[in-house]
Amino acid sequence: MVIDIDKCNGCYNCFLACKDEFAGNDYPPFSAQQPNDGKPWMGMTEKERGTCPKIKVDYVPVPCQHCGDAPCVKKAVNGEVYRRPDGIVLIDPEKSEGKREIVNSCPHRVIAWNEEKNVPQKCTFCVHLLEQGWKEPRCVEACPSGALVFGDLDDPKSEISRITKSPDMEELNPGYTLKPNVLYRKLPKRFISGEVLLTDQQEACAEGIKVTLKNEAGEQVCTTDFLGDFEFDGLAPNQTYQIVIKHKGYAPQSFEVKTATDVELGEIVLKTMG
Ligand code: SF4
Ligand code: SF4
Repeated sequence: MVIDIDKCNGCYNCFLACKDEFAGNDYPPFSAQQPNDGKPWMGMTEKERGTCPKIKVDYVPVPCQHCGDAPCVKKAVNGEVYRRPDGIVLIDPEKSEGKREIVNSCPHRVIAWNEEKNVPQKCTFCVHLLEQGWKEPRCVEACPSGALVFGDLDDPKSEISRITKSPDMEELNPGYTLKPNVLYRKLPKRFISGEVLLTDQQEACAEGIKVTLKNEAGEQVCTTDFLGDFEFDGLAPNQTYQIVIKHKGYAPQSFEVKTATDVELGEIVLKTMG
């Protein structure tokens, strides 16, 4: 599965589709019914970034990552958690009964404990539907914005094979090194933004002003939009950058900025030269 954060609008349809499919429904031998409340199998993390007046909200759907090197599988002593040849990781609802310790085996924290059924549970990629010939899980079918893409990586012609060749694929928690089968695009990082004004034209928005961001790794250039705003997003945290704003006939301005947090530089007024 690929999850494109740029396309996710936080509608929670994926979350609801998962509830609709699994709450009150057993699918032996793959899963026991999901409770109506408690930890969802399709989690949703809301990430608020920046400070007023520049605030961004991103939504990060978080299902089981179906890791290729899964600690939950390693923790199992009797096949209660297993990885199928197609890569889907499942928790056997019978064999795992009473095994609460499985919940803590997942560093991504996506395994829920079902108190009523006395079993650990998580996303199954709707394997009971795939077995019936479905091409994708309910969450993917329900997503209105195309933020979720599902498919067979062993098929070189599949859309998922094409998408995952892109260099902007990311893992949710790369430090865990678990070879996840869920990849992300555009996970939220740091941004630097600001608004440019021209001292002699403060009634009008300063559109088309060149702004450069640079550090030892290289530089990026953008121009202010029709409101005079600029933004560099997707920046690594805790890096130091120089922002340079130049416009013909005006004295340039530059700032040193550290992305310890997101940074809104506010109004930057360029003064006329001479
Ligand atoms: S995300 Fe957690 S539950 Fe899912 S396969 Fe990886 S370790 Fe297991
Ligand atoms: S259904 Fe799609 S757009 Fe809606 S929250 Fe889920 S991933 Fe995001």
